[in-house]
Amino acid sequence: MRKNIVAGNWKMNNGLSQTQALISDLKKQVQTSEAEVMIAPSFTNLWPAFESLRQDTIEVIAQNMHFANNGAFTGEVSAGMLKSIGIKTVILGHSERRAYFNETDESLAKKVDAALVNKMRVIFCFGEELADRKAGKEEAVVESQIKNALFHLKEEDFQNIVLAYEPVWAIGTGETASPEQAQDMHAFIRKTLADKYGTDIANEVSILYGGSVKPANAREIFSKPDVDGGLIGGASLNAEDFFAIVNAF
Ligand code: PGA
Repeated sequence: MRKNIVAGNWKMNNGLSQTQALISDLKKQVQTSEAEVMIAPSFTNLWPAFESLRQDTIEVIAQNMHFANNGAFTGEVSAGMLKSIGIKTVILGHSERRAYFNETDESLAKKVDAALVNKMRVIFCFGEELADRKAGKEEAVVESQIKNALFHLKEEDFQNIVLAYEPVWAIGTGETASPEQAQDMHAFIRKTLADKYGTDIANEVSILYGGSVKPANAREIFSKPDVDGGLIGGASLNAEDFFAIVNAF
């Protein structure tokens, strides 16, 4: 069966000493759930984080990467570079990347391919904006984001794909999708996958929810049958809060 995953997206937060302090706090937490746990520090802190957590079950993952292997792309980091320091999973398509760095479904399709060619696992993010939901277009938007970026993939590629539904209006706003809204959309996402790839594959893909998940609401959201975990921003910057969410399964 599919895995439960809780991933902390640190975004552009924490310098080296703060990264080390937060990791040492994370190591003191006790995990009572079976969920896979991941943290995504900034590029500059990936290697120290990876080294500190080498013996730990917390996986260190990247927040982004470029689609090219190497070359004249000033300021960018490739899948090969991430792999060379032991990173095996990358978040792609976060709404902040789409909104501020012009990432599109088309460029994300290339990034997904580059990650998979390099045998990396992808946490692929997507989700509608508030105006889409107000107009009743949330399913159409989500469906097109998934189709445009992922539907060129082969069935077996989905062994290395995790989906993260993150309604843009719920990210960093304190406003969470209700557990029912999350479940409805996750069921729709799974059906979209099943229609193209069959129910076996659709049932194996973990679908995470992201957007203002906190210790107070995690249990109810994670109790929904098609919600397989969370991508956690703000609450992942505090070890106790993050593990309260990890243990909410
Ligand atoms: P948030 O961020 O938990 O702070 O809303 C979630 C995300 O952006 O992944």
